Amino acid sequence: MKRRKFIQNATLTGAGVAVGAHVISCTTEKKEKTKIAVVPEFPKVIATWNVPNATETAWKVLEKGGSSLDAIEQGCRIEEADERNQSVGKGGRPDRDGNVTLDACIMDKNGNYGAVVCMQHIKHPISVARKVMEDTPHVLLAGKGAEKFAIESGFQPEDLLTEASRKEWEKWRETSNYAPVINIENHDTIGMLAIDKNGDIAGGCTTSGLAYKMAGRVGDSPIVGSGLFIDNEIGGATATGMGEEVLKTVGSFLIVELMRQGRSPQEACEEGIKRIVSKGNFDNFQVAYVAMNKSGETGSYSIHSGFSATINHNGINNNKESMSFNK
Ligand code: ASP
Repeated sequence: MKRRKFIQNATLTGAGVAVGAHVISCTTEKKEKTKIAVVPEFPKVIATWNVPNATETAWKVLEKGGSSLDAIEQGCRIEEADERNQSVGKGGRPDRDGNVTLDACIMDKNGNYGAVVCMQHIKHPISVARKVMEDTPHVLLAGKGAEKFAIESGFQPEDLLTEASRKEWEKWRETSNYAPVINIENHDTIGMLAIDKNGDIAGGCTTSGLAYKMAGRVGDSPIVGSGLFIDNEIGGATATGMGEEVLKTVGSFLIVELMRQGRSPQEACEEGIKRIVSKGNFDNFQVAYVAMNKSGETGSYSIHSGFSATINHNGINNNKESMSFNK
């Protein structure tokens, strides 16, 4: 039986079931009815970096039978509100002019997408992205328009530049070296994928982008197919790291398409990274992907070591360093 068919069968059987082995009927190529054991790995959530509070929050939504979309929104909001995370939401590092500008996107099981880019003063861009998806005829709002829409939708504007991030920015201004080089250990965009009890996948991605970026710069994170892509027939993928490199290879879409062709999430993430490293010098930046397929199987891979992903399955957080191209 072809792998894809197997995944589809497994998924259908997993619908509505939390965990455990299930015996399903499956028609083989010889048209015989054969019984095979399938362990559906869902509900489950995976996120970039070490974010146990975010994955636990998402898990709690899934555990109660909530949708993968709700799990994603609630999970991402945890990091957006955490001022210690200086790459997401409130407390994010500003652009070179001292403005905190946030990017986020979300995709649901039906392939709907919503995003905000370069939005200021609103702590929860993931929730604004969801509102763009659900309440407007558009998919992406930018800058002042996104902020206006958020305020009209009931979000409270606030100053997102915390004392800690302001002090770091002032120090940085002494040299103002804003070459877009990323410290490979120092970026925590939250990309999150979840599969719920029905086997439906959703994803989200939220970030303040590269620290001290040029004003107006937008990376991969809010752009469909680059920072995130979900096809509920196949799976999902999301990215963190140097957004310019992910954008140039449309990385998350590529990974989902590779899974469609039969690659495992791990194999697809590895190929996504290879597409970047094969193009030249990758010494000064990091890119990492995580992916999940329709049976809840996951994969992750990065260019350099130091990237980890957090999985929550059955309520247990597991943060593990991913394999990398450059060991
Ligand atoms: N991917 C994000 C961006 O390029 C940054 C990051 O993940 O560190 O905006």
